[in-house]
Amino acid sequence: MFTLNDNYLKLPGSYLFSTIGRKVREYREANPGTEVISLGIGDVTQPLAPAIIKRLHEAVDEMAKPETFKGYAPDLGYEFLRNTIADQDYKARGVEIAPDEIFVSDGAKSDSANIQEIFSQNSRIAVCDPVYPVYVDSNVMAGRTGTYDAATGLWSDVIYMPCREENGFAPELPKETPDIIYLCFPNNPTGATIKKEELQKWVDYANQKGAVIIYDAAYEAYISEDDVPHTIYECEGARTCAIEIRSFSKNAGFTGTRLGFTVVPKDLKDVNGVALHGLWARRHGTKFNGAPYIIQAAGEAVYSPEGKAQTREQIAYYMNNAKVILDGLANAGYQVSGGVNAPYIWLKTPDGMSSWDFFDHLLQQANVVGTPGAGFGPSGEGYFRLTAFGTYENTVKAVERIKKL
Ligand SMILES: *Cc1c(COP(=O)(O)O)cnc(C)c1O
Repeated sequence: MFTLNDNYLKLPGSYLFSTIGRKVREYREANPGTEVISLGIGDVTQPLAPAIIKRLHEAVDEMAKPETFKGYAPDLGYEFLRNTIADQDYKARGVEIAPDEIFVSDGAKSDSANIQEIFSQNSRIAVCDPVYPVYVDSNVMAGRTGTYDAATGLWSDVIYMPCREENGFAPELPKETPDIIYLCFPNNPTGATIKKEELQKWVDYANQKGAVIIYDAAYEAYISEDDVPHTIYECEGARTCAIEIRSFSKNAGFTGTRLGFTVVPKDLKDVNGVALHGLWARRHGTKFNGAPYIIQAAGEAVYSPEGKAQTREQIAYYMNNAKVILDGLANAGYQVSGGVNAPYIWLKTPDGMSSWDFFDHLLQQANVVGTPGAGFGPSGEGYFRLTAFGTYENTVKAVERIKKL
């Protein structure tokens, strides 16, 4: 008789977005005809840009001809894409990342969940709180997090770094020493960023402690301020302590087409001098068979002059929504942050309301859906996430409704 992986059985109850989905469904059923606007889930709404669609069509046609047909993609991803990434995301910023240090994948979620596999079982992880749930849950599945305390929402073997108003939603160096540090900037869910000299402190700390930083830069394209780093490799010494994860989802609308990449520098070695690069290559080759050719071709089109102009326009559209939310709610007396270098607005719930109570209040009184901060970790309690990924019209309407509360 088979038994299941104990680690999976430790995962706490219902997933945040399914709980939200159920509550919204129940409300809709009880109130037919009500128009509910969602500023909740982190998915884009604008269609793929014309330059990307054009390249997709061409690549599909290439698949129809014997001379241009493509089977399995190379393990690390097509060279045309890795070269373009190395040039435009790194070299153009004065950063040396070689094309063979870039591993093309089907997205940042799977990479950020899978990367923990190459670290030893007893590695101690540190995460920001609130946190993108994938980092913790993937380590729970790997049996690395100890026991769960339902009352506090904390795992015994995880080092939590609270990000709250008092520290500008930026984590402080932990008191206990971690082996693996997860950082995500611009941040989901808070929308906060840190400046280059602050990130440098993390790089120095990781090098000093022999820790590795897993840097999730999925929102890099939303950075609007000059002193915010676009890649962790802008910091001196990052090649010996940092892995960077990127995605085409939020900058170019690939949430449904799937494309991302992970950078593992060859200088990154464990305490015994073993390079991670070779192990990640081995893992990639064993458990992954490549992102589709047509999607990688479309990914290259994101970097073409037209692709860049068109995706920049989409980002500007979302960031205008962010401004509508930020200004509208600030004028209505709400305490808001984020929304400047990220498509997320982090709102303090009024009158000390719990974040789930505020969720119900907003759904029932304004017919607007957001995400309760508590769903991202204990330090998210008392906060609420709104996203700028809706249409402009819906965003304006939602803000007007919230103002009237
Ligand atoms: C959306 C998101 C991702 C997931 O990106 P995909 O490439 O679509 O898997 C990764 N990290 C963070 C923080 C995100 O918000």
